[in-house]
Amino acid sequence: ELAARMAEKTGAVVKALMNNGMMVTQNETIDADTAELIIEEFGHKVVRVSDADVEDVIMEILDEEKDLQSRPPIITIMGHVDHGKTSLLDAIRSAKVVAGEAGGITQHIGAYQVTTDTGAVLSFLDTPGHAAFTSMRSRGAQVTDIVVLVVAADDAVMPQTVEAINHAKAAGVPMIVAINKIDKPGANPDKVRTDLLQHEVIVEKMSGEVQDVEVSAITGQGLDTLLEAIALQSEILELKANPDRAAVGAVIEAQLDVGRGPVATVLIQTGTLRVGDIFVVGEQHGKVRALINDHGERVKEAGPSVPVEVLGLNGTPEAGDVLNVVDTDAQAREIAEYREKAAKDKRAAAGAATTLEQLMANAKADETVSEMPILVKADVQGSAEAIVQAMAKIGNDEVRVRVLHSGVGAITESDIGLAEASGAPIMGFNVRANTSARNTANQKGVEIRYYSIIYDLVDDVKAAASGLLSAEI
Ligand code: GDP
Repeated sequence: ELAARMAEKTGAVVKALMNNGMMVTQNETIDADTAELIIEEFGHKVVRVSDADVEDVIMEILDEEKDLQSRPPIITIMGHVDHGKTSLLDAIRSAKVVAGEAGGITQHIGAYQVTTDTGAVLSFLDTPGHAAFTSMRSRGAQVTDIVVLVVAADDAVMPQTVEAINHAKAAGVPMIVAINKIDKPGANPDKVRTDLLQHEVIVEKMSGEVQDVEVSAITGQGLDTLLEAIALQSEILELKANPDRAAVGAVIEAQLDVGRGPVATVLIQTGTLRVGDIFVVGEQHGKVRALINDHGERVKEAGPSVPVEVLGLNGTPEAGDVLNVVDTDAQAREIAEYREKAAKDKRAAAGAATTLEQLMANAKADETVSEMPILVKADVQGSAEAIVQAMAKIGNDEVRVRVLHSGVGAITESDIGLAEASGAPIMGFNVRANTSARNTANQKGVEIRYYSIIYDLVDDVKAAASGLLSAEI
């Protein structure tokens, strides 16, 4: 790598190192000081990349008030399982996509935009639930302006409703309550309103400030009122961005596409992203080869609050990674590599710490913690991350779930190999195993389980973990 950067022969660099008393091969990692010595010996100039340099290149540009223009709000739908988050997202999408427009077909790219009857543009994140919301936030990307809290009128406030309220409050994001399933015979919207009081959510009908709208994702009742409530909330927030600057965006989904290579859906936060722009995104970098909007159409540019699929990445970034447009290829590469190394160092440090901690805890308790290893494969990064986070919460002093590996894409033979070696089952979320992997799994007795609902997966692992627990006693 060092030789390549200096455009020198690898052998010459290895020889120079040996002359300096370092008996190394070409794949060995050397420290920065040694590298500096060698670089100078070869007559090149040393440029060290540091945190500060990285910050400098992608420094937050302070926008002047006069450059700011209003931008659409970004909305996340949260609420308890089965209260109708997905149905509501689907209903809004299908009600507002004009038939004939791009064939009336919307592509699932992780977010979509609709225009209300009064002309307000709204951007919806297509991954409902607080797991995705939280994992994005933990990576530093706050991409939600308004939370729509869905509560089923026939079920009222449930545990995940409370979690969602807490997440929205922690993020300081305003809420709108959608009281869903109002078409159902057992619907009791006032119970929802009184239940919410206990969690310090006082809706307008209870003389509070939080807008509440009765809706039905099935009949479409109240949908327009909900959209107008969101538009109103957005006006109050006075959301603004500067479209005339280098783009900054957040990755909401990323995957390795067989035909197209790494693809990331990016929600532009400020600036305008254009075809040909050079960018760095998390530990990856690239040059925008194509931009595809939520109707599957190629577009030349995307401005603030617009979700687009970005093609032209060198690798798959993670949900929550921030995309920054930079001036040159060299900068993009440099920053991405610097981040990759920094992340690797951090992981190594974290790994060592856990092992030590574990050893100490084990020694103290004088008994070992049973670990239940699993492998996770999912269709998109957001789901994989949500599952891994859910797994971390399962377990107690005696049993812990350990995700050996989590990834995006079909279950392959290499997954089976790892699972077999560790005695772990494979949990597939919205993915299948390819034929050869299926055959190998059968031969080796590796269990593959398929899911399309995260909570089912979590429940099964919980049950297995408690089984392990009782077997131990
Ligand atoms: P999610 O888990 O919150 O995403 O909930 P879903 O959107 O998957 O909905 C769960 C179930 O409730 C599905 O069977 C939906 O058809 C049903 N459902 C959702 N919204 C409504 C509604 O407004 N009225 C009625 N009657 N059923 C609904």
